[in-house]
Amino acid sequence: MSFQSLGLSEALLKAISKKGYTTPSPIQQKAIPPVLAGHDVLASAQTGTGKTAGFTLPLLHILSENPKEKYRPIRALILTPTRELAAQVYANVKEYSEFLNLRSAVIFGGVNQKPQAATIRQGIDVLVATPGRLIDLESQGLLSLKRVEIFVLDEADRMLDMGFLRDIERVMKLMPDKRQNLMFSATFSKDIRKLANGILNRPVQVEATPENTTVDAITQKVYRVAKAKKTDLIIKLITDGNWKQVLVFNRTKHGANKLVEKMIKAGIKAAAIHGNKSQGARTKALAGFKSGSISVLVATDIAARGLDIPLLPHVINFEIPNISEDYVHRIGRTGRAGANGEAISLVSADETTFLRDIQKLIGMKLPVEIMEGFEPDPNASTAPIKPGQNRRQQPKSSKPKGDKSKSRGGNASSNSGGRNRTKSKSRNSDSRR
Ligand code: AMP
Repeated sequence: MSFQSLGLSEALLKAISKKGYTTPSPIQQKAIPPVLAGHDVLASAQTGTGKTAGFTLPLLHILSENPKEKYRPIRALILTPTRELAAQVYANVKEYSEFLNLRSAVIFGGVNQKPQAATIRQGIDVLVATPGRLIDLESQGLLSLKRVEIFVLDEADRMLDMGFLRDIERVMKLMPDKRQNLMFSATFSKDIRKLANGILNRPVQVEATPENTTVDAITQKVYRVAKAKKTDLIIKLITDGNWKQVLVFNRTKHGANKLVEKMIKAGIKAAAIHGNKSQGARTKALAGFKSGSISVLVATDIAARGLDIPLLPHVINFEIPNISEDYVHRIGRTGRAGANGEAISLVSADETTFLRDIQKLIGMKLPVEIMEGFEPDPNASTAPIKPGQNRRQQPKSSKPKGDKSKSRGGNASSNSGGRNRTKSKSRNSDSRR
């Protein structure tokens, strides 16, 4: 299948060819036709599948086909959970609309709102936003969503995970009832389906990879290791393998910082990316990682979400996630665009239960190895880390009323930032991760 056969306009085809894409990815092949036909779409796709173009291209096509108004009300809203993802989606919107007469803007927390408000005031067709800043600007009367024709909810599962349910519901009320809705999510929990039911109108469902399964191109491996030896083992793996681009997942911001310090001492070019880092530091770390001046990026789950890092050969779970779906997200960062990837998990005794849960979710047993000199501690307890020890938790606030599904851990003091936030604080929540 070609992009031409999808019925996209010449201006879009020109931008696509400038990007160097020759064939639409599976999610693009499946999602673009129903979006162009005006349907609501519920798409199962994670980062790396080309999902952004999957909704951006048809959205731009629809907007450019319809007559423009002089003052340009916001006609399309793309809501994303994190600043990084918002910036990446916006970069895509800009590139794909290069040859169209459409204007766009991005808004997110953590930076001065004035330039954002000024851009919106001049008139834009497409707005990419994180929920907190969007609601802030709207409540100050600096933008209106009353003319939105197309609403995209990107990474809906992460939106709920970050406690944005109330904010999403609020945003929905600011838009006209009659509009086209597109929802993208990597996983489909009960909560996500419930949210989809509330937003989408008889949606066409499309899927890029089977739900909650890991991609075949990824080699997965577990090293059983004593907790105290994890740092030495990860340094050995990276150094011996001479790995140049490794994404490492850590549960906490503090743990990520500590690991980076030790890696730097060992001569590895590493940087951390998490919610306590300023926007500038995060952008710099990501740029360094992409350019090769940084070999190892140590990230927390939320900070890593949506990062556009093509062709990532290695992902290492320094700690495996207590939320099994996060494992699927994490390892989805490898094996992109047809390249092979390797996902390694360092598992200590207290993570045994989490490993079992992950294997249950992905429906396979992961091959286990033990590295000589880094054996697991035979006396260590296999009891899982207890509540209060920085395990990530499904936020209460993201659960629709009546949901009885279990929460999976302790308090939310780790990388979840302001999950237990109060309503008044919620505005700036996206600036804290
Ligand atoms: P996404 O899942 O939207 O984050 O996209 C993942 C990566 O795939 C990005 O680097 C895109 O630029 C790239 N990409 C998107 N569509 C295509 C395509 N049709 N052919 C090749 N690369 C693509």
